[in-house]
Amino acid sequence: RPADELADAAPAVVDWAVRYLEGVGERPVLSEVAPGWVRDQLPAHAPEEPEAWDAILSDLDRVVVPGTTHWQSPRWFGYFQANSSAPAVLAEAIIATLGTQGMLWQTGPACTEVETLIMDWLAELLGLPDRFRSDGPGGGVIQDSASSSTLVATLAARDRARAAGARLDDLVAYTSVDAHSSVEKGLRVAGLLADQLRSVPVDGARAMRPDALAEAVAADVAAGRTPFLVVATVGTTSTHGLDPLGPVGDVARAHGAWFHVDAAHAGAAALLPELRWIHDGLEAADSYVMDPHKWLFTAMECSALFVADAAPLADALSITPEYLRNAATGSGQVVDYRDWQVPLGRRFRALKLWAVIRRFGAEGLRAAVRGHIALAADLEARLAADARFVLPVPRPLNLVCFAHVAGDEASEALLGALNATGRVFCSHTRIDGRYLLRVSVGQTATGPADLDELWALVDRLAPPA
Ligand code: PLP
Repeated sequence: RPADELADAAPAVVDWAVRYLEGVGERPVLSEVAPGWVRDQLPAHAPEEPEAWDAILSDLDRVVVPGTTHWQSPRWFGYFQANSSAPAVLAEAIIATLGTQGMLWQTGPACTEVETLIMDWLAELLGLPDRFRSDGPGGGVIQDSASSSTLVATLAARDRARAAGARLDDLVAYTSVDAHSSVEKGLRVAGLLADQLRSVPVDGARAMRPDALAEAVAADVAAGRTPFLVVATVGTTSTHGLDPLGPVGDVARAHGAWFHVDAAHAGAAALLPELRWIHDGLEAADSYVMDPHKWLFTAMECSALFVADAAPLADALSITPEYLRNAATGSGQVVDYRDWQVPLGRRFRALKLWAVIRRFGAEGLRAAVRGHIALAADLEARLAADARFVLPVPRPLNLVCFAHVAGDEASEALLGALNATGRVFCSHTRIDGRYLLRVSVGQTATGPADLDELWALVDRLAPPA
């Protein structure tokens, strides 16, 4: 019986988790295993007989942990955050215990209604415009990823434009050259071709240029095409460029295009009243995504998509075979979130975000995010004061980008040397051809000592100017 096995094995699994988290900061951040090593350590065939949890846990230590790149290390500074936290870990266990499949309100009333409520909480915590609250035609919904959130917005935008008479081949979408690849992927999945996406140039701070957007849109309209989607980014993946939502939204609105805002990573900063300005102009958006599974401690997967009007989502995505019909749906009084996403089935992800928000409290969340930004500012100041480094792009939030003055070779060598220590992991990008190191400061457990250690390594390993 499941309950018996839980009673027997859970303490050992929890012990394992506690040991892992206590020791993760001492492990090489980037896994050192060679391709194929993990698989080679494990039996080629499934066991015929049940195995003990001891055997499974010992394989975690022997194989899985060495084969893991430790996103939960306090000295994780790579790409962006994929933060877990104790409330998220425990809530995941509860989600699997309930094993809810919340495709319909009827198959998960709590799954559905907690999600509606928690998305309203999140909208309030982030200071999002009222149009994203559930008391109007729109609201929030949890998807597995920002990529899915953007895809769903793209599908809704596509079908809204077609319903208004546009031909699929004539549709054109716009985003900045620094937008995340998920925008292009969403268009591909939506059946559009590469030449139906315009990559709009950015300014020196890597923000989309509204004048260039307006020009591109005007040229397409003159050629008989239909601008149907504009995607702005709050915190681009490369450098945290912040597109000006007001002017970009004005262009979208003037042409009846769907305006989607991708704040997958950086949106969490809007928890802080002093940083709410990153969302200035969001009132014009049709949809908005931020990922609690990045910088909001909620563990993969939890992407929060907000729409001003859910009807276009349902128009694009709702198909109702007989076996899904039920009285609650028929009453029109419930939300069936299957109509707001691509898959039918859905997990009780809201429970995880609920647990995180309740255990941190709004002030705890703000303090954590504010602390990360302060640490990033401190690192930025140290780099700026050192003649060996340049910071070619601004740091609005928790991402610091820098280069060695001696050029790309020195920058690339520095990144390699830093990561080879195993004590930290940083990543890189290329902007206008120049190689930049990226330090994303925001892991759940990162504190001042971790930044001090990173700085000591940078200082020791960087060659002279
Ligand atoms: N958008 C931005 C701005 C990102 O930084 C990322 C990060 O990878 C994504 C979208 C994709 O996120 P996800 O992995 O949730 O699809």
